[in-house]
Amino acid sequence: MAEASEKSLNFIEQIIEDDLATGKNNGRVLTRFPPEPNGYLHIGHAKSICLNFGVAQKYGGKTNLRFDDTNPVTEETEYVESIKADVKWLGFDWAEELYASDYFDNLYEFAKKLINKGLAYVDDSTSEEMAAMKGTPTMPGMNSSYRSRSIEENAELFERMKNGEFAEGTRVLRAKIDMASTNMLMRDPVIYRIKFATHHRTGDKWCIYPMYDFAHGQSDSIEEITHSICTLEFVPHRELYDWCIENLEIFPSKQYEFARLSLSYAITSKRKLLQLVNDNYVTGWDDPRMPTISGMRRRGYTPEAIREFCERIGVAKRDNLIDVSLLEFCVREHLNKIATRVMAVLDPLKVIITNYPEGKVEELTTENNPEDHDSGTRIMPFSREIWIEKDDFMENPSKKYFRLAPGLMVRLKSAYIVRCDEVIKNAAGEVIELHCSYIENSKSGQDTSGIPVKGTIHWVSAAQAIEAEIRLYDRLFKVEDPSREDGDFKEYINQDSLQTITAFVEPSLATASLSTPYQFLRKGYYCLDQDSTPEKLVFNRTVGLRDTWAKEAGK
Ligand code: ATP
Ligand code: MG
Repeated sequence: MAEASEKSLNFIEQIIEDDLATGKNNGRVLTRFPPEPNGYLHIGHAKSICLNFGVAQKYGGKTNLRFDDTNPVTEETEYVESIKADVKWLGFDWAEELYASDYFDNLYEFAKKLINKGLAYVDDSTSEEMAAMKGTPTMPGMNSSYRSRSIEENAELFERMKNGEFAEGTRVLRAKIDMASTNMLMRDPVIYRIKFATHHRTGDKWCIYPMYDFAHGQSDSIEEITHSICTLEFVPHRELYDWCIENLEIFPSKQYEFARLSLSYAITSKRKLLQLVNDNYVTGWDDPRMPTISGMRRRGYTPEAIREFCERIGVAKRDNLIDVSLLEFCVREHLNKIATRVMAVLDPLKVIITNYPEGKVEELTTENNPEDHDSGTRIMPFSREIWIEKDDFMENPSKKYFRLAPGLMVRLKSAYIVRCDEVIKNAAGEVIELHCSYIENSKSGQDTSGIPVKGTIHWVSAAQAIEAEIRLYDRLFKVEDPSREDGDFKEYINQDSLQTITAFVEPSLATASLSTPYQFLRKGYYCLDQDSTPEKLVFNRTVGLRDTWAKEAGK
């Protein structure tokens, strides 16, 4: 896109260009995407992926995929696999697949180095005692009585911690920095703790594990990451990040922070999304209502649309809530270009074309996608009995109503003009059937009738149509920012976020594929769901044709 290259640089790109201009890192750009494998990736991670891989691509660099798996308790191999699949699906290739746990030996050596420099000590205080001595942001903390232990004693105790001689919670290794620092994280942070847990990769080899702050920067440094991009909550960690690197005398990776992406009417926290899964508010991580990458994929969102969305929102330095309508807009815009047009009647009303011969079936040709002339055509059967949408008929129409009404004519898309002659009702007075007549010489493409009709409606031939289950999704939350509301975020769940209906779809959809996006003409974008079987088709509504929600909400 011409505009994109003319757009001003985001602040990360500006930093990289400055670094390149001064010859820093010998012109090398290496970023990393560092997920903790404790859940599935969500739209916030997509933003981080697009940023990390995007800037590296732009400046001829590379990006590592590094699993931040230093906490043995919450991590699972299922998550590792889903994360890899999601990054690939988004369209990115990593240079190396790495695991922070591969660095446990290095990190252990780093810890010993700090001990030998007199910059780390083993503390036997309980966590309560440590918390009590930590001070407050306005009051300095107090030195632990174990702070003055000798280098030899610390080295020996740390080794014994590693050998499993002490119970969990009885000792930790702390960096010796400054208990009066205005940055609470610099007040002798814990850098190693004892945990008798089996790690998904290292098994039972270790019973001591490094804390985040003693793993992340060091891992960056081991890989010689040039620009370590993370979210704003890590701003206070930067001082410790730099302190560790400086005192360990290792490669000087640098940390840069940008604003987390929050999306309206959604939750972007793996921990909370896990609750939705575990408490069965949704059918799984890939439920199409979830803001997870796997949920969006199943919903029919495309990687192109998600990347475009991430591009459009830019890279902010202050947290803000992004309107989910923008994401839906990007999805709609992309699907409009690529979706195969088909006809499906979601709320059916039977129409009998009384002057059309019984038993006759015509094969009408219709375009697959008028936006893409290479997409070809397909055949639609037409016959005497068809289904149309209930709301394409009105018994007492207003002047501006151009669809079917008693005595009025409408064009059936790719077929004929029909006129409504008779309205059949049941005992309750509800319209159950229409009797229409068709104009024989009005066939689309060969129309010599000269009849001007303003409306065109979609339809399916009753005998050949296939019954399909359609899942209509609405927003999962009733409020814009469920994380910010009082109380439990689950109280704000929209109980009506899934509506299941039965529709009649055109017969070509018998061979619908999971990878093809469809536009149900005049209805919206839909995709086949993985629950679909040849006996029972199931479609998800990806997004409507227009943003109807904004209108509804404003009522
Ligand atoms: P969560 O709270 O959902 O678990 P996290 O930050 O703990 O998020 P990680 O797996 O640690 O998740 O994140 C991997 C990378 O993705 C990190 O660099 C993190 O900063 C980034 N990231 C996570 N959530 C967002 C978000 N909402 N917006 C932008 N980047 C994000
Ligand atoms: Mg995290």
